[in-house]
Amino acid sequence: MVYIGIDLGTTYSCVSVIENGNPKAIHHDDGKNIVPSVVAFGAEILVGNPALDAPTDMSNILYDSKRLIGWEFLHSLPIAESRQLWTFKVDTRDKCAGYVLNKGTPNERFLRPEEVSAEILKYLKVRAEKYLTKKVTGVVVTVPALFQENQKAATKKAVEWAGLELKRLLHEPNAAAIAYNAKNNLGNSKLLVFDFGGGTLDVSILEMIGNNVGVKAVTGDIHLGGQDVDGRIMKHALTEFKKSSSYDIDQRPKLIKKLRTKCREAKEFLSNNIEETNIFMEINDEIDLKVPLTKSQLNKLCTDLFTKAIHQVDLALNTAQMKTEDINYVILVGGSTRIPRIRKLLTEKFGNDKIKLDLNPDEIVSHGAAIVANIIEV
Ligand code: ADP
Ligand code: MG
Repeated sequence: MVYIGIDLGTTYSCVSVIENGNPKAIHHDDGKNIVPSVVAFGAEILVGNPALDAPTDMSNILYDSKRLIGWEFLHSLPIAESRQLWTFKVDTRDKCAGYVLNKGTPNERFLRPEEVSAEILKYLKVRAEKYLTKKVTGVVVTVPALFQENQKAATKKAVEWAGLELKRLLHEPNAAAIAYNAKNNLGNSKLLVFDFGGGTLDVSILEMIGNNVGVKAVTGDIHLGGQDVDGRIMKHALTEFKKSSSYDIDQRPKLIKKLRTKCREAKEFLSNNIEETNIFMEINDEIDLKVPLTKSQLNKLCTDLFTKAIHQVDLALNTAQMKTEDINYVILVGGSTRIPRIRKLLTEKFGNDKIKLDLNPDEIVSHGAAIVANIIEV
């Protein structure tokens, strides 16, 4: 029997296995250990990076299934207006919010979000099988601590449709704590897990007693993540571009999509030890978009977002009736915790020693899932 752990993320997903007693995230064709949680339904079904550039109508490239999953009605989805930038079509059918493929054509088809999640799970299963050269049977899949019963039930369906036996759904912060504990033997301690991903921020305070994880507080903001940072950079880039050109990029969805990618890349680049970069795009033969972006500009554009993020830490501490001194370890999870300003704000709050940077924020959740999958096996 072979068991794997999967972090089924909103933006990226990651699959891990246990190798020589330690968790290991499996790499993909581009050499990275995470895949975009994107599925394209064209002539064939594509998952991950190939799906992003699939030769199909943009509206058949589906993402955000984790945001849609388990909701009976579209109108009850807790999505702010800024999120309604989806390039796919959505609708409510048979008490299920989901996707509409090929809308308005004879090939129109409604897709439940769990069908999209199932494709991502299937893809990760196949990757794991290729790596292990063995058939995978069971899986532990992680879900946000704030997921409701309907969302969990729909995620279970996705696992079933992917042809996997579900060993357990595990809360993401617990998975991170389990992985960190496995590596560092924490003993009895209190952990704050700060998970800043693509679309959401989740903050949990956990208490480790031996190998058991107790939950002291779970808070978060479902409208705060790396996408919001990208949005701020985009707004800035568009404003600057309009100062020098009358070209109306707003009316060109493909260019806007490309600009979004460029802005995300600029943000990620500035997390390295550099101060300035350029957002650069060729619009056509005569026009280029070139906007410089410095680290301090980025921080300025996002001051309120970062303040909101740190506010969630205070909320969690309040809920747990704890002070910063009571926390022994702060564990950084999620790609957006690479933003230097976020790390600085957390360091200022908790002190240098408590911020743990020795685990990969992209992989730690799936590591925890793999550990639990293999404990259950014994
Ligand atoms: P999710 O849990 O939503 O699937 P992740 O934890 O994978 O998301 O985080 C994805 C987010 O992390 C994206 O917005 C991405 O741009 C951001 N990110 C990844 N690497 C960096 C980096 N080096 N600097 C800043 N943000 C980053
Ligand atoms: Mg995540």
